[in-house]
Amino acid sequence: MLISDLPSRSIYEYTRIIGEDEVARLISYSEKLRGHSVTHVNSTSFGGGVAEILYSLVPLMNSLGIKTEWEVIEAPIEFFNITKKIHNALQGRKDITLSRDELSLYINVNRINAESKLLLRSDTVIVHDPQPLPIRSFVNDNRKWIWRCHIDLSSPNENVLKVIVEFLRKYNASVFHMREFIHESIPTPRKYVMPPSIDPLSDKNKEIPSSLIHKVLNRYGVDPEKPILLQVGRFDPWKDPFGAIDTYRLVKKRIGRVQLLLVGSLAHDDPEGQEYLLKVKEYAGNDPDIHILTNLEGVGALEVNAFQRAATIVLQLSIREGFGLAVTEALWKGKPVVARPSGGIKLQVIDNVTGYLVNNPEEASKAVIHLIRNPELRRRMGENGITHVKKNFIITKHVERYLRILDELYSTTTP
Ligand code: UDP
Repeated sequence: MLISDLPSRSIYEYTRIIGEDEVARLISYSEKLRGHSVTHVNSTSFGGGVAEILYSLVPLMNSLGIKTEWEVIEAPIEFFNITKKIHNALQGRKDITLSRDELSLYINVNRINAESKLLLRSDTVIVHDPQPLPIRSFVNDNRKWIWRCHIDLSSPNENVLKVIVEFLRKYNASVFHMREFIHESIPTPRKYVMPPSIDPLSDKNKEIPSSLIHKVLNRYGVDPEKPILLQVGRFDPWKDPFGAIDTYRLVKKRIGRVQLLLVGSLAHDDPEGQEYLLKVKEYAGNDPDIHILTNLEGVGALEVNAFQRAATIVLQLSIREGFGLAVTEALWKGKPVVARPSGGIKLQVIDNVTGYLVNNPEEASKAVIHLIRNPELRRRMGENGITHVKKNFIITKHVERYLRILDELYSTTTP
């Protein structure tokens, strides 16, 4: 399915964020690559980090003269049950095995998409994550194929990894968030490291008036006067919302006045979400200071933006994390982040500078209490966070990193 309902973006709109020189440099660099075209393929147009990125990246690449499209594979719910298993196995669940039937459904859905659903009318195809990875096997061409992996592959289930590796053989390149995610068995001739990014102009990140923030808090019964701890993330065991609840409880026991906001969308390609959400709600009990909210209650990009701006401290207690865009978004809003050092979080939360790295709820609660008691420290860390994101994780940087890969793939004769 071709995603055409995208916002318009012009590179010039970013001038006030990255400056005229950077904009001019990007335009001049992209001129070299005009005439090339790119299709991004993933498995959902809504929910989770990949959709979030493509929503802005695709229009921005078009604005730089690189004809870019975004297509989403079509698949039944059973397919997503299988790909969630693959995702969990690749992130380290050693107890998972794929049955012959599961494997053949995974492959067949991709075959149908490659043969009769996807348009793929470009000279480069960028395939995101394991869900659509096998489409390459059903397209016989000499375009450039790139696999963009958004998950932590540093200690994978080896049997499931083998499946992925087979499908990667005909790809020209693969891209990972961090060097430590590149498993030694990845067979692509080229391997790149590149972090993802946020778009400061999106509804999720743009500046909004404080009246709107208050309106949103009011609508969801959140007290603007009481410190707010916020964790944004899918309802998924790897994100450990239970750890966030434990942290909140420890803080509450010691200082009393505090609330916890757990915000998580239910993504179309994440069938476990509903079930897990019920478990989290049960664990939270009927504490009026814990607010658990999802897109089903109308929490969209603007609301997440408002909650992030209203938060006193942002938590991200994920046990595994590809990158953690929710962390980037919080840093961009000048919030200190207390997080476990998982995956890409380590690139973002610099201990004692942009927040605190912690190993468990006990440590997290101490960091939170220290921050609640020190508004000046929160302000300083917030400033550091903004600077850090601006330098490294803004969408214009991300586009530039993609352009460099295209440039390299097209300017050499090796595959
Ligand atoms: N997100 C959202 N609403 C929610 C929960 C998450 O819009 O209720 C967004 C969040 O703001 C971020 C993305 O989904 O942009 C999650 O990306 P991240 O890298 O943190 O995690 P992933 O879901 O990709 O594992």
